[in-house]
Amino acid sequence: MFQAVASCDLIQLRALGQKFASRKEVIPALLCFDHYFQNFPRIIVMEATEISTILADFLSYCSMLHEVAISPDPCNNPDIQKLFGFQASTENIFLLPEGTYLHQSFLALRAAMGVSEQGALVTEWDLSRNFKDCLFPRIRDRIKEENDICRKTQAFTPCLPFVINDVCNRLQCPRQHIHYTSCTPAWYNVQVRIHLQQILIFHNLHSVPFDVQERHRHHRYEEPPERCPEFHLVFIRFWINRLHETLNPSIYYLGTLANLDVVLIKEAQRAVEVVKRWCRDLLYSRTRPDPRLLTTVYQTANLCLFLDKQSAREYIHRAPILDVFALPQYRRELNGRKGPCVVNEMMRFLQGTDEVFIPAGLCFVK
Ligand SMILES: [Zn+2]
Repeated sequence: MFQAVASCDLIQLRALGQKFASRKEVIPALLCFDHYFQNFPRIIVMEATEISTILADFLSYCSMLHEVAISPDPCNNPDIQKLFGFQASTENIFLLPEGTYLHQSFLALRAAMGVSEQGALVTEWDLSRNFKDCLFPRIRDRIKEENDICRKTQAFTPCLPFVINDVCNRLQCPRQHIHYTSCTPAWYNVQVRIHLQQILIFHNLHSVPFDVQERHRHHRYEEPPERCPEFHLVFIRFWINRLHETLNPSIYYLGTLANLDVVLIKEAQRAVEVVKRWCRDLLYSRTRPDPRLLTTVYQTANLCLFLDKQSAREYIHRAPILDVFALPQYRRELNGRKGPCVVNEMMRFLQGTDEVFIPAGLCFVK
């Protein structure tokens, strides 16, 4: 393992990471994967099947890193001491050797009580308290980089004109040009799988505090510091949209829900729980109106009813996000007066529980 780390042998590092992870040997697996994912593999033009194996490893890496970050007593855990190369100097005082990750992080946080020739000295209390703060930025930065790469990766978005006509006239088309004969049920399930894997990966950020400075760089979604989850909602909306489009493509060449086979998707059960939670978060968020909000509400409600049918009927009609559509432009004119909200008609149609759900859907489309 150390030879692979020293020579930066990526193939060996990945193979070792997988081997240790399969044996639940978290520390060596984490060390191998951390070196392997230092530069995220170039998945932009890879096939979905290959991407799914890389995302499976990255998901395993993120989960292990998160597990170590929140370990209850990192100071006195011998495995964590070995991984980060620190040890007790005297009672309740720890030495973080110069050049190690924790040494740099503690100096950056200005949390060291003193500096010696060998490194930084920290109290046990400070080490326990700040350990998470040292690892969370690593989790956050790695996932954000990977998330940005996935958003640009062709395999996540097939090019519709190419699938339908075998031609695409778009210059430098960012979408995947795939022949419709390749869109088999197996292909459909791999497409769903990579989306569910990415949703699980991104969900790791849920418990990681957001960097305030970084958030402010994204001025489009500038929010007061205490409202950082708003920023996550942007990406949650993005992946909910991608998942919905993948499960229910605009054209049958790309498959249908009838092709879905959760047995082929190892992560399906865990991911479905996350998607349900994301959908509830979206429906219960206070969002400003925007041109794509109706699409988001439709897709979210549709996913809720598909994945969480019984409970969804209880909560979707009370969703605060529907308040955005109380504006006059979303209300139907009835005998010269403002009548019902068209979005409520859409919800009645999607739920399909009352006897007028079909007329309600027709009114919404009108
Ligand atoms: Zn194209």
